[in-house]
Amino acid sequence: MLYDITPPVSPDLPVWPGDVPMSREVLLDMKHGDNITLSAIKSTVHIGAHADAPSHYARDGATIDQRPLDLYLGPCQVIRVAVQRHHRITTDMIKVAITEPRVLFATGEVAESQKFKTDFAALSPELVEQLHHQGVRLIGIDTPSVDLYDSKDLPSHHMFLRHNMAILEGLVLADVPEGVYELIALPLRLVGFDASPVRAVLRT
Ligand SMILES: [Zn+2]
Repeated sequence: MLYDITPPVSPDLPVWPGDVPMSREVLLDMKHGDNITLSAIKSTVHIGAHADAPSHYARDGATIDQRPLDLYLGPCQVIRVAVQRHHRITTDMIKVAITEPRVLFATGEVAESQKFKTDFAALSPELVEQLHHQGVRLIGIDTPSVDLYDSKDLPSHHMFLRHNMAILEGLVLADVPEGVYELIALPLRLVGFDASPVRAVLRT
């Protein structure tokens, strides 16, 4: 069985304030007599479910095409946490044993809103560090960022950088039971880019 943990990508999908929402330019359209339908996309690469590259938060960080694909593919644990909105998930909120090298946190965020909500939950840098020491290489979250909306120094992003870990943001985890899955969430090979959208699925 597959759980699709990707939101639909359309012009209605909210993006970070100031970022570029998705739009589609139709160049040719069979419904208007053309021999094919052909369209182009314009969008932030931080759209919907996406993988951040280190170059997004570090001047000389690796770009998304330079990241090893095995980060985004393999055993994964989904954990629900009781975190308040606009708070960081702390180590004491984790009540289950970490057994897999990839962890996705479900904070209860629901993606139904047409409007970008700024009071989403994030990760504490201490949690990122502790998970690193427990063998975790990727952490995903169902909110737009692993740091809080108003964070300028991005302490959790920098902890990912320090330990060469991978970030997935914007996942849809509302209907996924806690447990262990195979994660498949490969980023596109976008040369020089600071992130990539992913089609993220969990396989049981
Ligand atoms: Zn990020």
